[in-house]
Amino acid sequence: MPIAEHIDCMECGGTAHLAQLIGPEDDLEPGDSVVYLCGECAQRWDVVVDEDDFIDD
Ligand SMILES: [Zn+2]
Repeated sequence: MPIAEHIDCMECGGTAHLAQLIGPEDDLEPGDSVVYLCGECAQRWDVVVDEDDFIDD
C-alpha cells in the first residue's frame, strides 16, 4: 500500500477510509486523486496525491 488507507476527517475529526482499492499493480503518481469516505459523517474527500502522501515501505 503506497498511500495511507485512512486519513483524519477534517469535518468531524473521525476516520476517513480509502474508498477505492489500490493494489500493488496500481501506479499512483503525484497529481493523481483518490477518494476517502468518512465512516462517521459520510463526508467525501477527494485528495490529490502528492509526494508527502506516499509511504515508504
Ligand atoms: Zn467525518
